Amino acid sequence: MNRYHGLSAHLHRRFGTRIRKIPLDAGFTCPNRDGTLSRRGCAFCNGQGSGTGLHADGMDIEGQWNRWRAQLGAKHHTDRFIAYLQSFSNTYGPIERLERVLSRITSLPGAVGLCIGTRPDCLDDDKLDLLAALPLPEVWLDLGLQSSNDDTLRRINRGHDSAAFARATHAAADRGLAVCAHIIMGLPGEGPHDFLRSARFVNALPVRGVKLHNLYVCTGTPMERMFKEENYCPPSLNTYIQSVIGALELLRPEIVIHRLAADPAPGELVAPDWAADKREIHNAINRALAAADTWQSRALAPHAPIPTIFDPTIPHPEDVAP
Ligand code: SF4
Repeated sequence: MNRYHGLSAHLHRRFGTRIRKIPLDAGFTCPNRDGTLSRRGCAFCNGQGSGTGLHADGMDIEGQWNRWRAQLGAKHHTDRFIAYLQSFSNTYGPIERLERVLSRITSLPGAVGLCIGTRPDCLDDDKLDLLAALPLPEVWLDLGLQSSNDDTLRRINRGHDSAAFARATHAAADRGLAVCAHIIMGLPGEGPHDFLRSARFVNALPVRGVKLHNLYVCTGTPMERMFKEENYCPPSLNTYIQSVIGALELLRPEIVIHRLAADPAPGELVAPDWAADKREIHNAINRALAAADTWQSRALAPHAPIPTIFDPTIPHPEDVAP
């Protein structure tokens, strides 16, 4: 029994088959790295910006797509994929560049959707209009918030505040775009209480998806220095699990959960050790949800049963067949 509204269940219900994401690196940068806002980046981010680095290796979008498509298609027995522009801030820069990248993505064989990761301060009306007009059935705007606490955002050198996130979310939702909010548990100076506040904050906005991340200390980041100087201690696995459960209970049932844990790239994890095993974190969260007999949205409707929208086999009126 699913106790939260997972992305794979959502996609399976919409498309009737398994859909996988393909990470694409289109060579975008970030204003928090190129000197426009700062050169330091966010405290937890290394110079890879969560990317594969394939663009820097000279591989174009089509080459990356074909490589992953062959691998993932054989492994997961599917020929339909969502393009995931994950590296850095993918709406940063001139709109003409974004337009060219999006036009290539819509022509990729087997592409049924797009997830595009960016910062709330890298969007304007024209870029949002462009994204809203994409001829793909599944389009997600992945927007980083990380914390609703502006003191924390300053501490981690985020370069925008929570109000910027709220403005961008409303502007996107007004155009029918699905926003997926990212929030992190374990940021410096924060505890579980702050993470739950961030969950309440995004729940009150017109977001359609949420990514829950544990903060892990990554090589080559300001967080690594803080950790080695004993100015930062990551939360335990148990604290993370209980925090995720608390956050899920606060989220509306229709919000799609895109992620329950971060996924460090090989070789970049400094601490905590438990962050290396994403599958086990997922399993532990599922076991803890079952043991507590709780689920996403439980705190909003304590006497209601588990929502049927969590079940991929039961059609839901919100789903429109592509
Ligand atoms: S906005 Fe994203 S890419 Fe830029 S520094 Fe922060 S985490 Fe890294």
